[in-house]
Amino acid sequence: MLSMRLFYPAQAETVPLVVSRLPRPKPAADQVRIKVFTCGVCHTDLHIVEGYIHPPKLPITPGHQVVGIVESIGREVTVVHTGDRVGVPWLYNTCGNCEFCMRGEENLCPKAHFTGFHINGGFCEYMLADARYLLPLPEKISNEQAAPLLCAGIIGYRALRKADLQPGERLGLVGFGASAHLAIQIGRYWGCETYVYTRSKEHQKHAEKLGAVWTGNFDKKQIKLLDRAVIFAPSGDLVPRVLERLRPGGTLVINAIYMSPIPVLDYHLIYGERTIRSVANATYQDGVDFLRLAEEIDIRSDVTLYSLEEANQALIDLKHSKFNGEAVLIIYP
Ligand SMILES: [Zn+2]
Ligand SMILES: [Zn+2]
Repeated sequence: MLSMRLFYPAQAETVPLVVSRLPRPKPAADQVRIKVFTCGVCHTDLHIVEGYIHPPKLPITPGHQVVGIVESIGREVTVVHTGDRVGVPWLYNTCGNCEFCMRGEENLCPKAHFTGFHINGGFCEYMLADARYLLPLPEKISNEQAAPLLCAGIIGYRALRKADLQPGERLGLVGFGASAHLAIQIGRYWGCETYVYTRSKEHQKHAEKLGAVWTGNFDKKQIKLLDRAVIFAPSGDLVPRVLERLRPGGTLVINAIYMSPIPVLDYHLIYGERTIRSVANATYQDGVDFLRLAEEIDIRSDVTLYSLEEANQALIDLKHSKFNGEAVLIIYP
């Protein structure tokens, strides 16, 4: 089978993913083998490929927004069956008995494994997954449309919940890529006014099309303060700029697995009971809840399609914001 493998991290422009041929993997007792239909391309994949975050061993096959069909199951698997269409998210599995897992915060489990990081992911034709963590996919959402929901969508949803966003509030989204273009649709469904901060004129237009009431950069004047804000861009310099626009009692959520250093903050920026918090991964239940909501509100992913062998190009285009929404690899149409 065909697989796009990372042997050595390097800038995306040097095309670090190598076309490789491997035997189809055999599922262990608690695993399933999935025939991959589509796989989304996430900023985290780019960070892994470029060496900003380090998988424990190389080579690795990236990709953690996988839509596919269960093709073969391990002998202990009872929760899914061959022929089921499923989604494989970033959270591959967790230990199930640490204090975080016991509290239902398995996204923080120190022994968690991640798809396309600890275990080969979906930039390939066939992959293995832990049967207990597979997400059921709503039938009416297509393979192309479903892929971005499995990381960009779920993590954006968790960020809005961790921001404690209430119906009708003013929401700020900083950076307008895959995650934000799905989060804005949830905000709209909850009757929130969304402000979108991005330098890209293309992304501003995209945000306006999806219902943003205000778009611009941080030099543009803004009269009203935000109730909640989410930063999607991995730039620490943005933190004080957003805090200046956040009301007392408001919440700023940082939704980034990697961020450049945050500058020294004047205390007045967080005084007034403002909260800053990060979001790290997502729980299985987040995935189930978000996919249910996505079906209910008929969420639309804007996707740009690439073949499996074009994975390097998809990463380059992602890095340079060449498209709106998300890049999706089509493996089996
Ligand atoms: Zn655990
Ligand atoms: Zn991701």
